[in-house]
Amino acid sequence: MGKSVIIIGAGIAGLAAGCYAQMNGYRSQIFEMHDLPGGLCTAWERRGYVFDGCIHTLLGAGPGQPYHRMWEELGALQGRRMIHHEELMRVIGPDGRTFIAYADPDQLERHTKMLSPADARLIESFCAAIRRFAAFDLSATQIKPRSLMGPGDWAAFGMKMLPFVGPLAKWALVSAEDFAARFRDPFLRRAFPKVFGWPEIPMMAAISILGAMHAGNAAFPAGASLEFARALERRYLALGGEIHTKAQVERILVERQGGRARAAGVRLYSNDEHRADTVISAVDAAGRSSTCWMASSSTGRSRAATTAICRSTASSRFRWG
Ligand SMILES: Cc1cc2nc3c(=O)[nH]c(=O)nc-3n(C[C@H](O)[C@H](O)[C@H](O)COP(=O)(O)OP(=O)(O)OC[C@H]3O[C@@H](n4cnc5c(N)ncnc54)[C@H](O)[C@@H]3O)c2cc1C
Repeated sequence: MGKSVIIIGAGIAGLAAGCYAQMNGYRSQIFEMHDLPGGLCTAWERRGYVFDGCIHTLLGAGPGQPYHRMWEELGALQGRRMIHHEELMRVIGPDGRTFIAYADPDQLERHTKMLSPADARLIESFCAAIRRFAAFDLSATQIKPRSLMGPGDWAAFGMKMLPFVGPLAKWALVSAEDFAARFRDPFLRRAFPKVFGWPEIPMMAAISILGAMHAGNAAFPAGASLEFARALERRYLALGGEIHTKAQVERILVERQGGRARAAGVRLYSNDEHRADTVISAVDAAGRSSTCWMASSSTGRSRAATTAICRSTASSRFRWG
């Protein structure tokens, strides 16, 4: 019988941790305070419409691309249509001028230069970075936990990252807002930071989103976010995992052995206690504040898996005025 694992939270991280625990011979159970899985990755129906509260662009959308295999292992992509949007966002000014963030850097370059020929050089360097970052493999940074990486792993990692060292240094410390301030055109100065829904987003992240869309690796999974989470839940249950819903963890139980503290289980608000060899906390920021204080002397939080955060709005429109 394999070792036991308790996972707190049935969001995407908790479900993924559970699937991989089961695949690797652990006996796992997930405690989720809500009455359904998915966490932030959710959707809801009103009067025949589905409102999607989460995923707009999922990294790993294209076969052979980074993260694709992981989503397949988690049962999230099988039979699912991925919708590849041609635009990330449209920003419309009060006078009707429109900036379209095309996923295709050639089209984006032509369109933006037409809006502001005076900014041609700035636009060219931005679009060149998108072309370059289309080949950037973010998953290379997460193949193995750092503590398990040997010299060979570090060498392979270094080789993969080498072509990006220059561009990373150039774009990592600049925010979309700072970059936008360089445009001569006043409309582009205002419109550009609104494209990513987060004006302070590091330009490297913004460029990576457009690069991944251009490469066909960032798309919208048809069926909306809750159905996406449900697919992971089905996979987890099929692997023999157990989910307890309406089961809010109040405290991580900590045991001391030979002067060392280790997480030994959880106590629920119902006062039930459950023990396991390993406890993984995969809760959100709000939940973390409620579970971490109680485990202040414990092993802390370890996330087995997490979705790539890329907040974007495919085919969205932003209007001001
Ligand atoms: C509006 C929006 C848009 C997004 N767009 C994208 C996108 O386009 N692409 C993308 O990749 N990502 C996107 N994200 C990010 C993505 O949704 C999150 O990164 C991901 O869903 C986080 O998963 P998680 O499992 O780490 O956390 P959560 O989803 O927060 O899951 C934590 C779970 O823990 C449970 N929990 C908390 N405390 C306890 C407790 N004490 N006991 C038991 N259970 C507990 C919660 O109920 C929840 O189910 C978006 C997020 C938002 C909000």
